[in-house]
Amino acid sequence: MAVLLGAVADDFTGATDLCNTLVAQGMRTIQMIGVPAAATAAPNADADAVVVALKSRTVPAEEAVAQALAAARWLDAVGVEQFFFKYCSTFDSTDDGNIGPVADALLDALESDFTIACPAFPTNGRTVFKGHLFVGDVLLSESGMRNHPLTPMTDANLVRVLGRQTRTPVGLVAYEAVERGAAQIRAVFDRLRAAGTRHAVVDAVTNKNLMEIGAACAELELVTGGSGVAMGLPANFRKARALGPPEDASALPPAAGHRAVLAGSCSEATLGQIERMKARRPAFFVNVLELGAGKDVAAEAIAWAIPELAGGPVLIYASAQPEEVKLAQDELGREEAGALIEEAMAAIARTLVEAGVGRLVVAGGETAGAVVAALGIRALRIGPEIDPGVPWTMSLGEPALHLALKSGNFGGPEFFLKAFDVLS
Ligand code: ADP
Repeated sequence: MAVLLGAVADDFTGATDLCNTLVAQGMRTIQMIGVPAAATAAPNADADAVVVALKSRTVPAEEAVAQALAAARWLDAVGVEQFFFKYCSTFDSTDDGNIGPVADALLDALESDFTIACPAFPTNGRTVFKGHLFVGDVLLSESGMRNHPLTPMTDANLVRVLGRQTRTPVGLVAYEAVERGAAQIRAVFDRLRAAGTRHAVVDAVTNKNLMEIGAACAELELVTGGSGVAMGLPANFRKARALGPPEDASALPPAAGHRAVLAGSCSEATLGQIERMKARRPAFFVNVLELGAGKDVAAEAIAWAIPELAGGPVLIYASAQPEEVKLAQDELGREEAGALIEEAMAAIARTLVEAGVGRLVVAGGETAGAVVAALGIRALRIGPEIDPGVPWTMSLGEPALHLALKSGNFGGPEFFLKAFDVLS
């Protein structure tokens, strides 16, 4: 069976979020880390969807376009039926991009003339009404996003926001049409397209709206949005008999090997999860100030961990309370402190995997990126969900490893030990 949906995501955790949504809708899904080399064989033997994770949300627009086009070319060579461009449900972007320029470039590359923009994700409180994006009960421009350090969102009117990022006028499929269902939505698409509109923001306040929008997008070469709107796409493939009935798409090969947790996130949720695990399992603290002083703390952590592994999961963490983090940053510099820890965690991960760790949980987006790169992992099959938004995955190729990559604030208090229970 061919790969049906090929997606380009503008960041790593966003890509995982999309994968998770597709798996929940019965599509077996693979996440590629970065644009695969041209010669990388498509993992299409048993994948219904492939998501290429980029790191392009805040890079200059030309670079984001180049990355997205490279990803699209690779997906095209794989032979996907429909393309998806995934961005954040808060439409994170600046007036220079990167949502508009990437969407335009993908439309051009696919020789297509129309797509939608729909970041709505009602389950997480993101809704679009009359073209305005709400976060919970407030407009995007009144939410915390107005102060985001990289992509401050000070205008909630997405028709206007996207309009500043694209060459052509942006249209709106308003709530009244969306409420009437797929046929009416399609009729508005046709009208907008006939008038030369290339991008249409689509209102959506419920998951039912998203399913109707998905149905209306069956014939579009490119759909853009948050992971919410992807919910409605698998049903189209099923209707066309390209996808079997909904079934459990999250099955992974059996897990084996020792269990370890590496934490480099200082987010509140992670700090709580560390306390819970420390109460039940042995733990080692990687002190960033010692790293800064040139001490080989990674070697110490490894020497400590290896004899412990046979007894059950171990925890190695660098995470600290905000005051301690600030102290370390004042002494070493923010970037340097982060880089030292990421380097140490990467080295620890490499050696622990060589020592037989086969089930690894990593907490922290940047930390996970460093670990995955150090292990040389290029693709992940998405497995069962541990807590909302965080699935188990399995690396494709060597080393064969079960991995749970958790962005800082995700997961319940018992996440670390719960993760291993989900696998067994
Ligand atoms: P999150 O997903 O919570 O943002 P990340 O891993 O993306 O977590 O980012 C956390 C950053 O903080 C990493 O660069 C990590 O190396 C750094 N870090 C972790 N512990 C400390 C510490 N004790 N002092 C300073 N920086 C730290």
